[in-house]
Amino acid sequence: MKIRDLLRERRGPLFSFEFFPPKTPEGEEALFRTLGELKAFRPAFVSITYGAMGSTRERSVLWARRIRDLGLRPLAHLTVAGQSREEVGEVLERFVAAGVENLLALRGDPPPGERVFRPHPEGFRYAVELVARIRERYGEGVSVGGAAYPEGHPESPSLEADLRHFRAKVEAGLDFAITQLFFNNAHYFGFLERARRIGIGIPILPGIMPVTGYAQLRRFTEVCGASIPGPLLSQLERHQEDPKATLEIGVEHAARQVAELLEAGVEGVHFYTLNRSPATRMVLERLGFRPRAEQAEGESPGGP
Ligand SMILES: Cc1cc2nc3c(=O)[nH]c(=O)nc-3n(C[C@H](O)[C@H](O)[C@H](O)COP(=O)(O)OP(=O)(O)OC[C@H]3O[C@@H](n4cnc5c(N)ncnc54)[C@H](O)[C@@H]3O)c2cc1C
Repeated sequence: MKIRDLLRERRGPLFSFEFFPPKTPEGEEALFRTLGELKAFRPAFVSITYGAMGSTRERSVLWARRIRDLGLRPLAHLTVAGQSREEVGEVLERFVAAGVENLLALRGDPPPGERVFRPHPEGFRYAVELVARIRERYGEGVSVGGAAYPEGHPESPSLEADLRHFRAKVEAGLDFAITQLFFNNAHYFGFLERARRIGIGIPILPGIMPVTGYAQLRRFTEVCGASIPGPLLSQLERHQEDPKATLEIGVEHAARQVAELLEAGVEGVHFYTLNRSPATRMVLERLGFRPRAEQAEGESPGGP
């Protein structure tokens, strides 16, 4: 089933989980374990990232197929950075041949150490071109999502310019969007209001990352530009040598964010899992959601 239809027919909020394709046999084993554990929460879809400059092409296609074989619905990320239009077209064909019906169309970041994005000489420059290409090739045969930035994309000169570019992606054919991670819901609510005001009506799923490590948090937020609220940062700083306390702080903060988002009636919540299950599982359980064996299509996970 396509995410577009799931979102339309849902009877409650949807949950989804994001993973990256592991590099080592140990990582593969760990991801199989994590997928097995989180599957019981009946995610609406499971997304698999696409490494910088196409570096995980083979593994991303492999994991999209594996996720499908596990009885889960894959959302395959695809970036255009460092690849020609033809190469991107080939990867698209491979995802579709692997049974993928849902794609997240992205540009990708500049290589590490570079600040300016340079498109491949025969490649796409912006994600909007990939969205258009997918629609042109597959019509409504696939569901297409894109990225949204509640605090603005780091390269964008202003929130307004970034929102205009986001609208261009929606007009090119996005069915839904997933946001960059954020730690203060006010950013998400503000973005949603600005988007609705200029006529953007698609579901915009908030992306939530339960913090599990201080150093890792600093690394991520540096790249993606998400801000960390002062009280959360000082709490994490104080306990940075204590992994158990850090996990508790991260889970508690994420659970409060998700509770408020659900209360506001969001269509769903997307969890950045970093290929581990405990933090996401703890957040869902803290909100009263329980793993369940059987569930109908479009139904939300085990309710409180
Ligand atoms: C949910 C999510 C999942 C992600 N998954 C991955 C992944 O799997 N792999 C990966 O490598 N990266 C991933 N990223 C990171 C993403 O690739 C980067 O944030 C990248 O820098 C921008 O990608 P985009 O698709 O938003 O680009 P775009 O929508 O093309 O925007 C990029 C920048 O260009 C600007 N822009 C857009 N159109 C125009 C125009 N016509 N003129 C001028 N400026 C314009 C935008 O405002 C923005 O500043 C993900 C991000 C999110 C939020």
